[in-house]
Amino acid sequence: MDSGDSESVHAAAQRSDSRGSPRPGAGASCERGVPQGGCRPCSWTRARASCSCAWWTCHVPGARTCSCRWPSRGSAARTCTPCRGCDRCGLCQDGRYQFCEVDAAAHSVGMWRDGGWAELCLVPEKNLHRLPAGMSLRQASLMEPLSCVVHGWELAAPLPVGSRVLVLGAGVIGNLWAALLHHHGHRQVTVSEPLEGRRRALHKLGTGYEVVSPAELRAKPAGWTVDLVVDCSGHAPAVQHALGLLGPGGTLLLFGVAPPRAVISISPYDMYKNELKIKAVNRNPFTCNKALGLIEAMGDRYIDFEKLGVKTFRLTEYKSAIEELAKGSISKAMFEVDAEFPKGA
Ligand SMILES: [Zn+2]
Repeated sequence: MDSGDSESVHAAAQRSDSRGSPRPGAGASCERGVPQGGCRPCSWTRARASCSCAWWTCHVPGARTCSCRWPSRGSAARTCTPCRGCDRCGLCQDGRYQFCEVDAAAHSVGMWRDGGWAELCLVPEKNLHRLPAGMSLRQASLMEPLSCVVHGWELAAPLPVGSRVLVLGAGVIGNLWAALLHHHGHRQVTVSEPLEGRRRALHKLGTGYEVVSPAELRAKPAGWTVDLVVDCSGHAPAVQHALGLLGPGGTLLLFGVAPPRAVISISPYDMYKNELKIKAVNRNPFTCNKALGLIEAMGDRYIDFEKLGVKTFRLTEYKSAIEELAKGSISKAMFEVDAEFPKGA
């Protein structure tokens, strides 16, 4: 879709009815994903009249190309982020769409809106990002988790090379953090992970980082400190312990999603005395293209399923996928599908 088409759709998106809700302009598609007509690439959308697509995933009839066209390999291919905002509220207009709570059902794919765990799904156009030419779909599939890491990376900056870093958790997020730190030249990194399988798997990244169990971390001598803790576990007791490992000027970066009722305690005096900082990371506001750039730069050296502990499954193998995740033999399960698209899609 070229920029002219995009502007046409965008202009239609700005029209509002008397209730203040957006609705398609003349010639655009329906509000519930039933296009009133359109170009050939959208034929399968029309065939799925019961789908839950939002109207802005559809297109202006007569457009040369279509926003929901199935991506082909090469520069026309797209990858998708599940989260965006309404683009109309103050938070969105400030560039902080991760806090948007308006119309979440329309643009949060896989959470409030159908998507994932299926061969096909429709996503809003604004959730799509064009892949650089030559990028594999496997690497592109890691765009979204890496984009969240990029947001955390920017919050943690500046992080001079030579800083001492502790990463809690060696799931795919912890592994991406390890890869990104190594890519940027950081060598004084320790990763703590309770599952032995994940500790072993992390060595495949070839970073040379120290990998320890939580018990080994607790056995560190007094005075062992770090400049940055990146929590990728969401496990409050681990976060509480790591807070005490921050040296002067240190930063605790909360990346893992803790249970809503989990709590940790802080000492305001220690925070004052050592100028400690606590920052939290919520999703990926406008960092997707940065993540794609990083994937290009990091390449097969880091962005590799085997090295990151990612394993693919068929949808019918979902039980095995969950079991392997629980065992810790993999860092992430990903489903690979061979979807058949109707002609013209
Ligand atoms: Zn919003």
